[in-house]
Amino acid sequence: MKSLKELTRPNIWNLKPYSSARDEYKGITASVFLDANENPYNSPHNRYPDPLQTELKEELSKLKNIAPEKIFLGNGSDEAIDLLFRAFCEPAIDNAVAIEPTYGMYKVCADINDVEYRRVLLDESFQFSADKLIRSADEHTKLIFLCSPNNPTGNDLSRNEIEKLLTCFEGLVILDEAYNDFSNVSSFINRLYEFPNLVILQTFSKAWGSAAIRLGMAFASKEIVHILNKIKYPYNVNLLTQQRGIEALKHYEQIENWIKIIKAERDVIMDEFKTLSCVQQVFPSDANFFLARVTDATAIYNYLVHQGIIVRNRSKITLCGNCLRVTVGYPEENKKLMDALKQYK
Ligand SMILES: *Cc1c(COP(=O)(O)O)cnc(C)c1O
Repeated sequence: MKSLKELTRPNIWNLKPYSSARDEYKGITASVFLDANENPYNSPHNRYPDPLQTELKEELSKLKNIAPEKIFLGNGSDEAIDLLFRAFCEPAIDNAVAIEPTYGMYKVCADINDVEYRRVLLDESFQFSADKLIRSADEHTKLIFLCSPNNPTGNDLSRNEIEKLLTCFEGLVILDEAYNDFSNVSSFINRLYEFPNLVILQTFSKAWGSAAIRLGMAFASKEIVHILNKIKYPYNVNLLTQQRGIEALKHYEQIENWIKIIKAERDVIMDEFKTLSCVQQVFPSDANFFLARVTDATAIYNYLVHQGIIVRNRSKITLCGNCLRVTVGYPEENKKLMDALKQYK
């Protein structure tokens, strides 16, 4: 890996971050806060929230078995994706490489930040080759994006190839594990210490059932986390979200239970899908959704919309011709979908 200084944009490396009123004092127990121009009324919502989400990170650190300094929290993982571009990619000079097809936000953030985005096609089984990614990289490639299980294909990426990429690539490897809770393979989080160039993204939006609170996690070396913390908005995670996050962590057995139910339901509807005459192929899934190749994706999509059932039409996406992406819902919802598709002619 190149040094973090070489990888970071010079203006960010040299940045002196905004120092909030609450940053200035530390360690002293105070009870009179006249430093931040807050209103004394309307407690607790009158106070600015903890900029570094200390309590939430402490709880998360126990669950994930990782030091709090290696955790970055943001307004969804989308914030972390954007900050990675802003911290490491010089607009119009640097570039990022990603597998294709994958999650659309990487390209959108690259475009917003005027960073060239290079796509490397997956193979027919939706796997990638580390060599191919590295071949499409050059000395200006700062980030390589992987997503496992991948969206929209649903499959886990090969661990051997991920390791190979982490070992051979000189820049940062962003491994988006938004759906790892639904997979049978373990997260790369317990291997962070082996790979200083690894950044893992996870989110409260999927398995945790908390998309509305906007809480995303990035796990990386404390040096990388420090850089992200320098450039984030000072109060990027609001108080209500921090509280809800802590609550969710206290009921982790609830989340494990949801995951179990969703995985079982996924396997059932995937099997049922295979029996439908309008379905040609159901791709393997390690996530809470699956991709299916159908006879006419757009016609079936429109037919379902008319029945009030919305799936994702992915037929315009590379390698996903005539494919629909189906999220696993409640059993009743899945049944409605099946019933509608059985009647489709
Ligand atoms: C849904 C999803 C996310 C989550 O984004 P949030 O901003 O945390 O809601 C991240 N990555 C992928 C691949 C996703 O599909």
